[in-house]
Amino acid sequence: MQDKPRVRFAPSPTGKLHIGNARTALYNWLFARHYGGNFILRIEDTDRKRTSRDFEREIIDGLKWLSIDWDEGPDRGGSYGPYRQFERLELYDEYLKKLIGESRVYPCYCSDEELERERETQMLRRVPPRYSGRCGTLSPNERKTFENEGRKPAWRFKIDRGVIEFKDLIRGEIKFNADSIGDFIIVRSNGIPAYNFAAVIDDHHMEMSHVIRGEDHLSNTALQILIYRALGFIPPFFAHHSLILGEDRTKLSKRHGSVSVSEFRDTGILSEALSNYLSLLGSSFAKSKEIFPREDMIRQFSLEKTGRGGAVFDNKKLKWINGIYIRNYETDRLLELLMPFISSAGYDCNSMDMKWLYRVVDTVKDNIGTLSEIGDYIDIFFDDHFEVSEDAVPILEKKESIKIINIVYDMLKSGTTDYKIIMETARDETGFKGRALFMPVRAAVTGKTWGPELDKLFSILGTKSLIDRIDRVLKLTKK
Ligand code: GLU
Repeated sequence: MQDKPRVRFAPSPTGKLHIGNARTALYNWLFARHYGGNFILRIEDTDRKRTSRDFEREIIDGLKWLSIDWDEGPDRGGSYGPYRQFERLELYDEYLKKLIGESRVYPCYCSDEELERERETQMLRRVPPRYSGRCGTLSPNERKTFENEGRKPAWRFKIDRGVIEFKDLIRGEIKFNADSIGDFIIVRSNGIPAYNFAAVIDDHHMEMSHVIRGEDHLSNTALQILIYRALGFIPPFFAHHSLILGEDRTKLSKRHGSVSVSEFRDTGILSEALSNYLSLLGSSFAKSKEIFPREDMIRQFSLEKTGRGGAVFDNKKLKWINGIYIRNYETDRLLELLMPFISSAGYDCNSMDMKWLYRVVDTVKDNIGTLSEIGDYIDIFFDDHFEVSEDAVPILEKKESIKIINIVYDMLKSGTTDYKIIMETARDETGFKGRALFMPVRAAVTGKTWGPELDKLFSILGTKSLIDRIDRVLKLTKK
């Protein structure tokens, strides 16, 4: 065993990177970085029907986007490789042979249909479904008969009866009654190992000191401990953190909305904001900080404080955190990140003056919660998007408003460009101030009742655009 911890993230590339898994990866990564250990990426690609290289790439991209890096992995090698399980089949086979030799496993010839029937009968009898163990008592002749029928056996592990106990670093003492578990398959009939078998062999061979994963794996851990014992391996330390839940307190899934890292990225959540939020969710090592930079996360990380209770995912809070990161970004860098979102909102970035766009972004960045909202905030700067919204109409129709707007209009026409002077004149001439003075002007030059500060708007829009817009509004109110 190494002095420094070795931990891993072991995704199955059968789907996009779920934020629950991203949180597991983050915890493992923080644990490794906190203690100066190693973080390993292992791809668990034994489910050949559901596995794909596209998903593997997508998971890797998601981790990289979250700035979670690994010291060893399929793309960068390492002395414990290969790091894809499908490239390690020989190793699993060796251990299967060992277990066969020691009669710790037996061949099981049951077909899926037979197993399903057995399960249904048990359910009808209201007994918890588990494998009956019938293939464990086959005579050599019976086995031969099955072989002659062309049946390929899976390999089942014989459960040791009794209690399986282990100490979980987050949850404390955990006990499982092995009597409720049926003999389970460790190698399928196609020769490919099941997750519990391959994971134990890899965690041992890759010298993992700690296995940190979601509490949905607790029952797997019980099975894995039996395999550790049978193979004579010392188990690592285990830590099972809580899961992310939807508002109905069930495990967060697609029906709750966005769940994959790429979906959040595509709606314009910043990587820093997502990892910040995931580090706070259900844990207390941030010590009531809301904005939690990486260096602090690494320094303050504590496995014990990752929380036992399920954590309800709060989209509003994520957006709030995202807004803070957006606000704090240098406008230059933010502009770069925003470009694809501005394009997909229907604007032609190539034809825009970048200095002008910089000023626009600088003006609106305090208001946006996600990058994809940018379209809603910048439209007021484009004359061809100018439109009077419904809530602005009653404001613009008021006599007092028209008076104020006319003063602004005349001053602009006569060449006064200074916002302060214009508004002071309007105030002095009408006696209105505050909202009563500003709202009609805002409604006239943007068509909306909300938006960035008026002085900035005036300066970005420029005299010609302001005059044109007011012209259109005045014509509208005269109808
Ligand atoms: N491939 C498993 C999963 O994605 C890994 C679980 C583990 O960390 O052992 O759930």
